Amino acid sequence: MLTDAMRSALTAIPGLSVLTEPDDLERYSRDAYDYSPVLRERLAECRADVVVRPDSVDAVVQVAGLCHRHGVPLTLRGSGTGNYGQCVPLEAGVVMLMSHLRSVRAIDPDTGDVTVECGCLLKDLNRDLVAKGRQLRLMPSTWRSATIGGFIAGGSGGIGSVRWGFLRDPGHLLGLEVVTLEPEPRVLQLEASEAEALNHAYGTNGIITALTLATAPNIAWQELVVDCPDWSSAVELARHCCAAAIDLHLCTVLEAAVVEQLPQWDLPVSAKDRLLLLVSPDAVSTVHRLATAAGAAVTHLGSEADRHGNGLKELTWNHTTLHLRQRDSSWTYLQMLLPQPELAFLDNLKQAWGDDLLWHLEGVRQQGTQRLAALPLVRWRGAEALERLIQQCRDQGALIFNPHVLTVEGGGLGVIDGDQVAAKHNFDPAGLLNPGKLGGFNS
Ligand SMILES: Cc1cc2nc3c(=O)[nH]c(=O)nc-3n(C[C@H](O)[C@H](O)[C@H](O)COP(=O)(O)OP(=O)(O)OC[C@H]3O[C@@H](n4cnc5c(N)ncnc54)[C@H](O)[C@@H]3O)c2cc1C
Repeated sequence: MLTDAMRSALTAIPGLSVLTEPDDLERYSRDAYDYSPVLRERLAECRADVVVRPDSVDAVVQVAGLCHRHGVPLTLRGSGTGNYGQCVPLEAGVVMLMSHLRSVRAIDPDTGDVTVECGCLLKDLNRDLVAKGRQLRLMPSTWRSATIGGFIAGGSGGIGSVRWGFLRDPGHLLGLEVVTLEPEPRVLQLEASEAEALNHAYGTNGIITALTLATAPNIAWQELVVDCPDWSSAVELARHCCAAAIDLHLCTVLEAAVVEQLPQWDLPVSAKDRLLLLVSPDAVSTVHRLATAAGAAVTHLGSEADRHGNGLKELTWNHTTLHLRQRDSSWTYLQMLLPQPELAFLDNLKQAWGDDLLWHLEGVRQQGTQRLAALPLVRWRGAEALERLIQQCRDQGALIFNPHVLTVEGGGLGVIDGDQVAAKHNFDPAGLLNPGKLGGFNS
């Protein structure tokens, strides 16, 4: 519990809203962790003592100093769309909403690099970039609701990963403005190499107030739906598209049982295994050619920007899981990089798990190489069954990114990143930022 002295000191900070209503404490202590029955059980009781929303970097500095002096945990929150309880306050204390720090500070006319405050929504940032002939390289399927700070601190990749890999690949994050959690907090400007330790660290080792990112030239992405004669031709066609000399922004492969359960919107009706593609205008004819050779049918929906309402992006990445869970909440999911050749692995697992495992694949660039990742839908049959499935996937060569664990390391590659831990010692020596999420700091 917070002391009265801490509470009144918070209310005295200029440019800081303080929220104490039970509904607010409940709402801002949760994220989208309920996709995982394991995390749902573990996190149900976690509550902040107070929620604050700063309007300026100065107010952030004052909150950080207060938390340090009073020994109170501080957990940062963008839009709270993370899936692993990343912004759930495990040890209560203060939850700080970063959503009012949202201005785009600068777009470099020569390089296209953008410097933006952490709470800017990805959709707003991308709109400003497009007006300057640029666009975001990577975005999650939650791009309409998520913040750029939350994406860097909690996300990994998504739409664009087929071309640009993942957020932690060198070249995406070029710099950070960071507030430390010390008696007299510092506001630091970190270069690209120093910033890497805070990239995907769940806000455990510094408060990001602004970031500089590389961007890409704007392309009028074309939406293509490709219905395939069977599962193996769908996977092979996806591999061909990823290897072709075309600009791809998204390459999703869905087995027919997933397609049937997604919203239909204005898409062609189909009970077939399907690819959802975003490609540059000059790539449309090549996809047609590759698809025809595979016996598949292409529907060109037109330019993404001209289509109003829901786009293909909102059917992919973890939005696929969202839509299936809206129909039947007993679906959960896994995340993995597939071993090669993919088809044998996919067929083996399907044979073992039947309709309890539905395949959803995404084309990605992993360390410079085109690969297929998977976010399969998994019917929840209890924690023991989930562990068995994970073990089978690992035994057959998949690299699992487990969405049912709380720590940075558990959800990532499973190893402690010494630079992340060193940054925590430097910028949060008392271990108050989002405690319990950086395994390497507690071990
Ligand atoms: C349906 C669905 C689809 C999704 N698809 C994708 C996807 O395609 N790719 C992907 O990577 N993720 C995906 N996600 C996860 C999530 O939506 C994204 O990672 C998103 O970018 C998180 O942004 P946010 O603002 O909601 O962050 P939050 O959930 O609020 O925070 C995420 C983490 O960042 C920390 N944080 C927030 N702001 C700051 C800050 N200013 N300084 C330091 N730390 C901070 C928080 O403490 C937390 O640990 C998906 C989630 C859902 C529910």
